[in-house]
Amino acid sequence: MKPYHALALFSGGLDSILAAKTIAAQGLRVLGLHFVSPFFGKPHKIEHWKAIYGLDIIPVDVSEAYVNMLSAGPDHGLGKCLNPCIDCKVLMLRRAKEMLSEYGATFLISGEVVGQRPMSQRVDALNIILRDSGTKGILLRPLCAKRLAETEPETSGLVNREKLFGMNGRGRKDQLDLADVYGLKEIPTPAGGCLLTEQASARRFLPLFLHSTAPRPADFDLANIGRQYWAGEHWMAIGRNRADNDALEALVGPDDMLFKVRDLPGPLALSRRLPGAVWDDAAVIDAAAFMASFNPKAKAIAGPVRVDVAGWSRGSVIVTPSRQTTLPWAEPTWEEVVERKRERFKVCGDGRGAQ
Ligand code: SF4
Repeated sequence: MKPYHALALFSGGLDSILAAKTIAAQGLRVLGLHFVSPFFGKPHKIEHWKAIYGLDIIPVDVSEAYVNMLSAGPDHGLGKCLNPCIDCKVLMLRRAKEMLSEYGATFLISGEVVGQRPMSQRVDALNIILRDSGTKGILLRPLCAKRLAETEPETSGLVNREKLFGMNGRGRKDQLDLADVYGLKEIPTPAGGCLLTEQASARRFLPLFLHSTAPRPADFDLANIGRQYWAGEHWMAIGRNRADNDALEALVGPDDMLFKVRDLPGPLALSRRLPGAVWDDAAVIDAAAFMASFNPKAKAIAGPVRVDVAGWSRGSVIVTPSRQTTLPWAEPTWEEVVERKRERFKVCGDGRGAQ
C-alpha cells in the first residue's frame, strides 16, 4: 500500500472535494475517508467520485460508534433536528486520527469554512472540535486556513500556506470559482444528505431513542422504511409499496414479527421487540388488526381476515381490520419531536434553527 501524506474527511460535498483537491494540488498524496452510518454516507458513489475527481477514497463505517454517541447524548447538543454536528465532527476526526499511522499520513484535512454553519462552523465551535478530537496542530482546513492558526504541516513546510485560502461565511461563490480552477467535472448541489438534519427523518428516529435503551444501527435501517407507527414501546413499520415490502422482508431478525394478510396482496408490517417492550398476545392481535387496515383488499371485505405473523408463537390470527385499536398507534409529529427531544437530549439554542 502506498503511504499518504494526509487523510481527508470526504463527504462528497463541494467543500470536502475542494479541501482534498487543494492539498493534492500541492503534490501531496491525499486519501479521502467517506464516513458511513445509517444517517449519512453514499458508499455506492465512491468509485464514481474517484473517477471524476481523481482522488483515492475509501469508506469508513462508523455506524455503531455513531449510534452509541447519539444514544449516550451528544456533549454539545443537537441542532435543528437530531443532528449533533459538533460531536459528529469530533467522532469522525478521532477515527481519522486513529487511522493516520495505518496509512503513513501525518495530518488531517476537512472542508469546514469559518462561519458557514451556525452550529458547527463558528470559530469557537471549530476550536472545540479541535480540542475534543485531539487534532490541534494536525487538522488543516485548507479552505479557511488563512483565518486560523498555522498547523504543523504548514510550519514544517510540507504544505505551502500561501496556496491555502481564507474563505468565510455562507456564500458559495469562492467555492464555485475554485471548482472552476480545479476543473471539477461535477459540482454537487448544496443539499446536505444527512438524514439527521431532516424533520421527516427525525420523526422516524426519535422514538427509538425514547423507547430503546440501546438502539442498534440495524434499528435505524428499519426506521428508514415505510410508515412508522408507535404505541408506547410497541413499534411497527408498514410497507407503502413493493420496494418497502422487499426491504422489510430483508431486514427480519430474530426479535421481529412479520405480519401479512393471508391470501390478499398488500403491505407487510414488521414489528421489532425492543428490550423491555411487552408483546403479549393482545398486543400482537391489536397490531394485526391495525396493519390489516392498510390492506385495501382486506378493507373491501369489511369483515374478518386472517393475518399470518411470522415470529409469533401462535403463527396467525383472525382479526377485523381497524384503525381504532386499543393500542394508540400513531406516527410521531414534528411538534412532538421538538418537545420530546428536549427531554432526552441537550439542545442547542431553541432546537429549531441551528445546524
Ligand atoms: S450535518 Fe451535522 S450531523 Fe450530519 S453529517 Fe454533517 S456534521 Fe454530521
